[in-house]
Amino acid sequence: MGEYVVRCVSDGSVQPPYSLGCPKDNSLLRAEYKARRLETASLSGIWRFQSWLPVQGIIAGAGAAPVTYKSQGLGRELGLENLFISFNGYWPERGARMPTGSFKDLEAAPTMQRHREQFSDQAGRRSLVVASAGNTARAFAQVASQIGLPLLLFVPQKALERMWTTVPPGAVTLVAVDGDYCDAIDMAEKALTLPGFVPEGGARNIARRDGMGTVMLDATLHIKRIPEHYFQAVGSGTGGIAAWEAAMRLKEDGRFGSNLPRLQLAQNIPNAPLYFAWKCQEPEACCSNMFDDVLFNRRPPFAVPGGVRDALQATLGEVYGITDDEALEGKRLFEESEEIDILNAPGVAVAALQQAVKNGSVLSDEIILLNITGGGLARIREDGTLYRLVPDITVSRWEDAVQFLESR
Ligand SMILES: *Cc1c(COP(=O)(O)O)cnc(C)c1O
Repeated sequence: MGEYVVRCVSDGSVQPPYSLGCPKDNSLLRAEYKARRLETASLSGIWRFQSWLPVQGIIAGAGAAPVTYKSQGLGRELGLENLFISFNGYWPERGARMPTGSFKDLEAAPTMQRHREQFSDQAGRRSLVVASAGNTARAFAQVASQIGLPLLLFVPQKALERMWTTVPPGAVTLVAVDGDYCDAIDMAEKALTLPGFVPEGGARNIARRDGMGTVMLDATLHIKRIPEHYFQAVGSGTGGIAAWEAAMRLKEDGRFGSNLPRLQLAQNIPNAPLYFAWKCQEPEACCSNMFDDVLFNRRPPFAVPGGVRDALQATLGEVYGITDDEALEGKRLFEESEEIDILNAPGVAVAALQQAVKNGSVLSDEIILLNITGGGLARIREDGTLYRLVPDITVSRWEDAVQFLESR
């Protein structure tokens, strides 16, 4: 099991294990695991990395792992000899079985397990609250339904079509928000002032980050060394921070090399606050009309200690601004060369890789890890029943949401 202490990145002070923040500043917390070498357990899915996950137990039947493989098709198209793909979705022929088809499944399982451990003496009475443009809500709804824990979701009406599970829905309360993702976040924050509701913490939750960090762990075990580049489409950048943190642990392990992968993060312009923040331009904070709105985040953890800026600086990283057309072309190229459908977001990452090849930022023999953060939804639909999540209420004002929650 994962034995660890939790420290503030800014001053190294040890904090209570379930904290989401630091007392002195807005620093992220980071888990420091007792195991300094990566020991894998003979457990299934991500639980095999349990010694580097902040959980004591596991959720049997949840926590599908990333799958790393060496690309043939896309690698050939781009002239890359050592392109490795971390596939985070549903592709049973390759052993990838993420039930809701995105790498949010990597975050949901350890976060729910940790929530269950934190409130083990009062099971059922504390509801985790999640605001999401779709993929996160779907992943959390899936795990909550599997283990019978209550969950409160705030989702913009536009994203309702993304709301389904592959198991019968459990104690999931779905509030549809007549508004955008920002409105959903605002309402979730209001709900958290009511008793019985617990924030999941987003990027501040070490279980979410270390769950996503298994992408780097799995890839490094597969390649037998730490990759030289890591490509990912980001919204909040949490996956980038997670990859950096996992790589630091692997570097300290000593068996996989002494480099850190360069973070090559990609956002969809113009709604690309991390891209503009890194390039020192003003972010355009609007939510609408994105190629993929799962990549929008209004307050990404950019300048906080241990956040995206630190990760980029420490790894000599880069952020790419990708247009809709480029993303569409990246998606098409991937689907044709690797023969699996992917979500729009990873199309943004493929486009960034294309740019990096073109401008010489990556060399043909370098070891590149491309995180395909979601895919295989067509396969999920073929293989089983999807249970639609129906909103319990649709609200346009937070007062109505609060009234609904208080009346239950
Ligand atoms: C959430 C999400 C991302 C971006 O994740 P970060 O939290 O910003 O690292 C990328 N792709 C897909 C499919 C996602 O659901």
